[in-house]
Amino acid sequence: MEKIENIDPVLSLHDEFTDSELATSLNLCYNCSTCSTICPVALETEGKFNPRSIILLSNFGYEKRLIVDLTPNVWQCTMCELCQEACPEGVNLHEIFLRIKNASARYHNIPKSYTSETNQVYLFGKAVPSQPVIEKRREQLGLPKSPSTDVDEIKKLMGMTPVENILKEIEELEKTKEEK
Ligand code: SF4
Ligand code: SF4
Repeated sequence: MEKIENIDPVLSLHDEFTDSELATSLNLCYNCSTCSTICPVALETEGKFNPRSIILLSNFGYEKRLIVDLTPNVWQCTMCELCQEACPEGVNLHEIFLRIKNASARYHNIPKSYTSETNQVYLFGKAVPSQPVIEKRREQLGLPKSPSTDVDEIKKLMGMTPVENILKEIEELEKTKEEK
């Protein structure tokens, strides 16, 4: 398993942005703003969330800002891929935003809603675990019972990624904060 404590998220993201494939994609951006004019989150936030700026910061080596300081940050992106479909240069915005999210998670800069849902999947195999009230509603609607999930298999799969460690580290950090 990858030891996340030995990885510097900023340096690691910098390496990813300067590797041939992603660097080539980033370098194609000519700052036209098509992505920002089509992005539903940019529209909803009146431009405060700005995919063009994120690509610009990625291109110019501002990885620390992207991971730590940016507000609104990349977690606002819903990964709908509209920007990528519209980009005249075919910049791989989806992959770039994904790498920033991964680096931010390693830095423990991850919204609580994401860690809560991931924890649910880890513990119960579902983001929304089955409950009597849900089952009753399904029955009333004539739907079959929710399918069961192999939680051990899901834990095993998640254990093969850094996510298990990240969840543990975040839990420890929160405990430490509460104790202070
Ligand atoms: S649409 Fe593509 S080329 Fe235009 S700013 Fe966005 S990423 Fe850059
Ligand atoms: S993928 Fe993210 S940045 Fe691109 S349009 Fe969708 S929400 Fe906006």
